[in-house]
Amino acid sequence: MHLRIAHLYPAQMNIYGDRGNIITLVRRCMWRGIEVMVDAIHPGTTVAWPTYDMVFFGGGQDSGQALIADDFVQRQGVEVRAAIADGLVTLAICGGYQLLGNYFLTHAGEKLPGVGALDVHTIGGSRRLIGNMAIELDWSLADGAPGTLIGFENHSGRTYVGSGAQRIGRVLVGHGNNGEDASEGARAHNAFGCYLHGSLLPKNPHFADYLVRLALMRRYGRGDLAPLDDTNEFYAHTQMLKRCVA
Ligand code: GLN
Repeated sequence: MHLRIAHLYPAQMNIYGDRGNIITLVRRCMWRGIEVMVDAIHPGTTVAWPTYDMVFFGGGQDSGQALIADDFVQRQGVEVRAAIADGLVTLAICGGYQLLGNYFLTHAGEKLPGVGALDVHTIGGSRRLIGNMAIELDWSLADGAPGTLIGFENHSGRTYVGSGAQRIGRVLVGHGNNGEDASEGARAHNAFGCYLHGSLLPKNPHFADYLVRLALMRRYGRGDLAPLDDTNEFYAHTQMLKRCVA
């Protein structure tokens, strides 16, 4: 079996170690004999979206987002929206999450367009929302898997989830989408956006496997994954959770 991952704008959109999510997805697949190909999608690239199983979009500064927002919307917008509606497995963090939504009005007053694949919009505030975050997921990822995600947030944007998307969980510790309604992240089809840096997937291996299973199900119609020894990963997860909620 093999999977193909598109990594959106890695030069402009990669902060707080977000690339660790790609490394985690690739390694966890390789350990199970699943081949993975990762293609960097730079500005100006023509992408055959139906050939991809997953897309990853990391976070970025407002200035990094401004460099690629038009390319993303104009070159990829229509097709990436269609691919996501067709079940393309998507993980977008922070600045990437914001551009997957309808728009991001930065705190300097610049309106960056989004592709509208997730029904969210984001308004920049003058105070940044920074710190560790723990959330309780709104659904179960797998039998016996933790119902929590942990990570680190640092954003000025306040994101509001519209009726076409659902939050991914409830904030236990931290600010989440906007610091007001205790929501974190958004999902639609197999696309997930959230504010969890860290990087996210190394210490939330249950979420990494959930994404891989969705991608395998979509391509092969079955998503069984051989178990891995995640003692260290779940130790990290549990320790951070304890530290957050203590
Ligand atoms: N520039 C965006 C904001 O500040 C996203 C930041 C990020 O990706 N960490 O809201």
